Amino acid sequence: MRVKEANLFEPGGFRRAKPYAVELTSLRAVSFSGPMKLHEYQSKDLLAKYGVPVPKGDVTSDPEEARKMAAEIGKTVVIKAQVLMGGRGKAGGVKLMDTPDEAFAFTKDLIGKKLVSIQNPVGMIVEKVLVAEAIDIDKEFYLSVLMDRDEQKNVVMISAKGGMDIEEVAATDPGAIVRLHVDPAWGLSDYELRKALADAEIPAIARNQMASLIKKLVKAFEENDADLIEINPCALTPDGKVIAADAKVSIDENALFRLPHYKATADDSAEDPIEGEAARRGIAYVRLGGDIGIIGNGAGLVMCSMDEVKAAGGNPADFLDVGGGAQAERVKSCVELITMDKNVKGLLINIFGGITRCDEVAKGLLAAFDELDVNMPVVARIEGTAAEEGKKILEGSRIVPATTMQEAAQKIVELAYA
Ligand code: GDP
Ligand code: MN
Repeated sequence: MRVKEANLFEPGGFRRAKPYAVELTSLRAVSFSGPMKLHEYQSKDLLAKYGVPVPKGDVTSDPEEARKMAAEIGKTVVIKAQVLMGGRGKAGGVKLMDTPDEAFAFTKDLIGKKLVSIQNPVGMIVEKVLVAEAIDIDKEFYLSVLMDRDEQKNVVMISAKGGMDIEEVAATDPGAIVRLHVDPAWGLSDYELRKALADAEIPAIARNQMASLIKKLVKAFEENDADLIEINPCALTPDGKVIAADAKVSIDENALFRLPHYKATADDSAEDPIEGEAARRGIAYVRLGGDIGIIGNGAGLVMCSMDEVKAAGGNPADFLDVGGGAQAERVKSCVELITMDKNVKGLLINIFGGITRCDEVAKGLLAAFDELDVNMPVVARIEGTAAEEGKKILEGSRIVPATTMQEAAQKIVELAYA
C-alpha cells in the first residue's frame, strides 16, 4: 500500500486510479505500491547504455570535487540537485556555472539544502549534485514512455513544447502533446513515428534523431520493466543535435525480483527520510505534508480517517497503517514515526479491532507516551475486539477518547489548532 503524488499528465487516466481519499487530501493519488524512482544520473547511465545521447557528467556530494569536475570539463557546466522530485529548475536546484569556483560555491550552497517545489511541497534534502557539461539549447521538446492502462499498451508522448512548463501545456493545450501507442506485437513502425513527430510539430531537422531516440527509449522501457521514462527537456542544440538534457526513469516495483541489479538503488531511493525509516521498520507510512498525524489499522480505515480530518478542517500529515494484529511494540514504533515529523500538531488514532486487539493497541500507546516525548494532543477512537479492555487501559491517561471517527476527527482538529 502506498500513496504517491498525482501525475499531472492524467488526461487519459494512464496512471493508477484515484480513490476518494485523494480528492480530499489533494494532489495525492493512492496506488497499491510505488514504483522505484531512479535519480537523474542513474537514469542517464541506464539510457546511455541504450545509445541515448546524454551530456557528459558525474555525480558528487563534495563541493571541492565539483570544482575539479568543472575544471576538467573546461567550459560552462550545469549543476543539478539529485533529488527525486520534479520542478527542480523552478525550485532553484538547476543552474549554469561558468567557472570552477562558481561550481564549488553553488554545490556548497545546494548540499544539505531543502528544495521545495509545487510537485513536492514537503521538500527534499539535496545529498548529491550532478555536474555536467552544459549544452546550448535552441529548443526544448518533451518525450516520455509510459503505460496506458485503458488501451493496454505502452504509449509514447511527444511534444515540441517541452521544458519546465509542460504541466501547464498539458492543462491548457493538451493537443500539443501527441500520443503514439506501441503495438505489443509489432512495436513502432517508422511511418507512425514520422507522422507522430510531424503532428507534434517537431522541426524536420530533429525528426530522424528523435525517431531513433524514441525507439531506444521504448526498448529501455520494455527491458527494464519501467513504469515511466521521461526526457524533459529533450534538447535541440543550435548545431542540430538532439540530446537528453534531463532524464527520469522509474521501475515497476513488482518487477524488482527479476532485476537484482537494482537492489542497491532501491535501498537508496526513499524519497523522504521518515518514509525511509518507515520502510526499514516495515510500516506502511506515507508523508502527506499536513499537521494532523494519523494512525489507523487497515488502509481503507486510514484513508477514511484522512478524509474525516480534512472534512473537519484539518490537514493530514501522513498515511500510516499499523497493520493487522499489531502488538504493543509496533504501535509504539508507529507513534515514534509520527513524532519524527516536526510539523505534526496533533495525533488521531483510529482503530477498528478485528484481528487487532484494542487492549494491545492501548498498551502500545501508553508505552509510547511513557517513553517518548510527545507534546501534542492525542485523540483515540478504539472499537472492536477487546475495545472495553482497551478503553479501561487508557482511562486516566492523556489520551482523549472519542466514540465515532467523525467525532475523533473534529476533536483532534479542535485541540491541535487551539
Ligand atoms: P527539472 O526542472 O527538475 O525538470 O530539471 P531539468 O533538468 O529539466 O532542468 C530545468 C531547466 O534547466 C531545463 O528545462 C533547461 O531549460 C535548463 N537546463 C538544464 N540543463 C541545461 C543545460 O545543459 N544547458 C542549458 N542551457 N540549460 C539547461
Ligand atoms: Mn526536467
